[in-house]
Amino acid sequence: MTQPKPKVDLCPECRGSHYVLQNREGRVHGELCACFKCPECEGRGHVFIEDETGISSLRECACAGLVQRLKKLNEAGIPGKFSGTQLATYQPIVASQKIALRIAKDYVQEYGNSAQGLLFMGRPGLGKTHLAVAVIKDLILDKGMDCKFVDFFQLLSDIRFGYSQDLSEQAIINPYVAAPVLVIDELAKGRNTEWELTMLDQIISSRYNAADKITLITTNYLDQEANPKKGGKGDSHVEIGSGNGRKASAAEETLLDKVGERIYSRLVEMCRFVKLEGMDYRQEMQGKQTAPARPRKKK
Ligand SMILES: [Zn+2]
Ligand SMILES: [Zn+2]
Repeated sequence: MTQPKPKVDLCPECRGSHYVLQNREGRVHGELCACFKCPECEGRGHVFIEDETGISSLRECACAGLVQRLKKLNEAGIPGKFSGTQLATYQPIVASQKIALRIAKDYVQEYGNSAQGLLFMGRPGLGKTHLAVAVIKDLILDKGMDCKFVDFFQLLSDIRFGYSQDLSEQAIINPYVAAPVLVIDELAKGRNTEWELTMLDQIISSRYNAADKITLITTNYLDQEANPKKGGKGDSHVEIGSGNGRKASAAEETLLDKVGERIYSRLVEMCRFVKLEGMDYRQEMQGKQTAPARPRKKK
């Protein structure tokens, strides 16, 4: 017999979610909140359910699902600085950020309807990683999905390490191919060797060929049409490589330039491209806090 659930006030630690997330050794780590004592199973993780014929059987308690989801979250490799990151804490300033947030929210809500992932594209500081991390946290905690987060540099260094250990190429790339949902953060950052791009191509191609893999990507590299200096249509609202003294040269390479046609065309099919435009939002906020606005110098 189960007792009726006692009424409790909303816990200030977890606000009723029954879990708390923190940065533990550089990774997002979640555990059950101290307030949580499952009234159904009293912490055993299972309950006896009696059917209409009076036969009772052992069933997993609903709370065991939460424990499993927290375990998945802890194994996802999300950097600890994102422990508080949620879609609800993303603060859009410009229109493209508002649109990106809406797309991310819809994506979580309608997850499973589309075989595509998302590719957040735009200048640093617009919150692309915030959105990608928030999406997978929701997919793990609300939908129980297995998700993996990897920074592009980490991905390359893992590959190089695997190679130095004489692992087969298959063994090296398998963790990234196998993940049902994979975030690759800062794709194409750095100067990539041909060999690194070959390995990336294998990961992307394998995920592309497996119809059920979802890939989310963030990249600072833009598309041709958003980059007027590359001969595309351009957009008068986007300032490319101007203002705030940023060096233009590297920034003007497009994503296509960086990853090559083969990977790029697969990304186009695998992901919905979400373009974020505007100033560096972190710099902007810092500027507002520390110094009065001043007119930008023309060069
Ligand atoms: Zn609590
Ligand atoms: Zn329980």
